[in-house]
Amino acid sequence: MQREQMLEELSKIVGKENVLSSETDLLLYGYDASLFKGKPDCIAFPGSTQEVSEIVRFCHREKIPVIARGSGTNLSGGTIPTRGGVILHFSRMNKILEIDIENQRAVVETGLFTLALKNQLARHGYVYQPDPASEKVSTFGGNFAENSGGPHCLKYGVTTNHILGAEIVLPDGEVIQVGGKALDNPGYDLTGILVGSEGTLGIATQLTLRIMPKSEAVKTMLAIYNSLEDAGRTVSAIIADGIVPATLEILDKLTIKAVEESVHAGFPLDAEAVLLIEIDGLKDGMERLAERIMEICRKNHARDVKSAKTEAERTQLWAGRKGAFGAISRLRPNYLVCDGTVPRTKLPEVLVRVMEVSKKYNLTIANVFHAGDGNLHPLILFDERDEEELRKVHLAGSEIMKLCADAGGTISGEHGIGTEKMKEMFFVFSPQDIAAMRKVKKAFDPEDIYNPGKIFPEVQA
Ligand SMILES: Cc1cc2nc3c(=O)[nH]c(=O)nc-3n(C[C@H](O)[C@H](O)[C@H](O)COP(=O)(O)OP(=O)(O)OC[C@H]3O[C@@H](n4cnc5c(N)ncnc54)[C@H](O)[C@@H]3O)c2cc1C
Repeated sequence: MQREQMLEELSKIVGKENVLSSETDLLLYGYDASLFKGKPDCIAFPGSTQEVSEIVRFCHREKIPVIARGSGTNLSGGTIPTRGGVILHFSRMNKILEIDIENQRAVVETGLFTLALKNQLARHGYVYQPDPASEKVSTFGGNFAENSGGPHCLKYGVTTNHILGAEIVLPDGEVIQVGGKALDNPGYDLTGILVGSEGTLGIATQLTLRIMPKSEAVKTMLAIYNSLEDAGRTVSAIIADGIVPATLEILDKLTIKAVEESVHAGFPLDAEAVLLIEIDGLKDGMERLAERIMEICRKNHARDVKSAKTEAERTQLWAGRKGAFGAISRLRPNYLVCDGTVPRTKLPEVLVRVMEVSKKYNLTIANVFHAGDGNLHPLILFDERDEEELRKVHLAGSEIMKLCADAGGTISGEHGIGTEKMKEMFFVFSPQDIAAMRKVKKAFDPEDIYNPGKIFPEVQA
């Protein structure tokens, strides 16, 4: 179909003012927070499920790819238009539809920023637990499709544990409802399949979320180390003691330096690593638990353990953690965020191996990660204008994923596969496993309209 005709058809559905197609627009929507680039045919901004359905119906008829997009903060190339097509941008669908305190549920449109709901819930003393560090701008649609994690997911579980239902537009334009406010819906768990499916099976327009009352008390501590491995060992020791803190986050020396230059969180510049620990729950017994954790930290060679005395101090520590990715970008023009998971006990060993990869390729690597989940985020720093360096970055990133897989872990903790890690799928899945997943894709989307060129490796390794 001619592009002009496509624009005309889409304009009929959403209005001319809600379709973009200039060269600049196509350039801007051709990339996300990953290293990849593509070019869409146009961008449409639907205002309702009905409009999403009509656009999808049209694209299905004309075999035009459809790529759902929230804020484009995903780190795996999930919104790259690898085969052109229409970007469906959800910024107009950003309403909180319901906050149901009695049943502890909220219903939102998928273009809503994660933090926007949290800010509203705070007024009721409630919280939506998953907290990707990008929550100020990431949308619920993106969180849903990537099954996002975050610091507090150690105790409370990742996005899939908090999405109970969804309104979904299927690749032929049909609108269905999966799950709902009640627990344990009978039939196949389609919500479970759709969460984390990276926009390849269904496009979500509304989500039903689990919300929880805010904890009565919270305590945030910072353990300071002369060795990154000791910080890693402390994480396993705390959990082995039967304690599940709300968060266990590690930042290494390079990250500390970058953070201190931008956010001034109060991390000591001469430390090799800091471990940010937060516990929450009932006030009663919290001091005793904190004491026990501090003791475990010291036993594992923490040189100092501090605790935040005021809410301002706590906010400052968290600003350091949440601002870490942004702060790292001060060091070099680009970085690749690797996202792999290992069994917690393997953290010290795998961290040493990551540093070996850094030496092998002569690339600087910083580490900031959800240590409690064994979810590593080595950040490989580089300058994309240097082609040789970029080539090495891809090799090093893949090698780190292999390290995680070989340690009994996997190739994504929370950022998804997207266009970035398709060939690495063979590190953890057999051809038969992948064939089974392809059958699911085919059942939902036989024409391969939704987000084509993602997740599945083209050829067998
Ligand atoms: C600084 C920074 C910090 C980050 N920290 C974290 C973190 O702590 N934890 C974490 O898990 N991630 C983190 N991320 C990654 C990213 O923010 C998350 O993956 C987030 O959920 C993406 O949301 P988004 O709205 O930007 O989605 P996008 O990037 O726009 O899209 C992501 C995927 O979702 C699909 N999608 C979007 N909307 C819909 C929809 N309505 N229906 C179906 N599919 C849809 C897209 O097609 C794409 O495949 C971070 C990223 C950055 C840049």
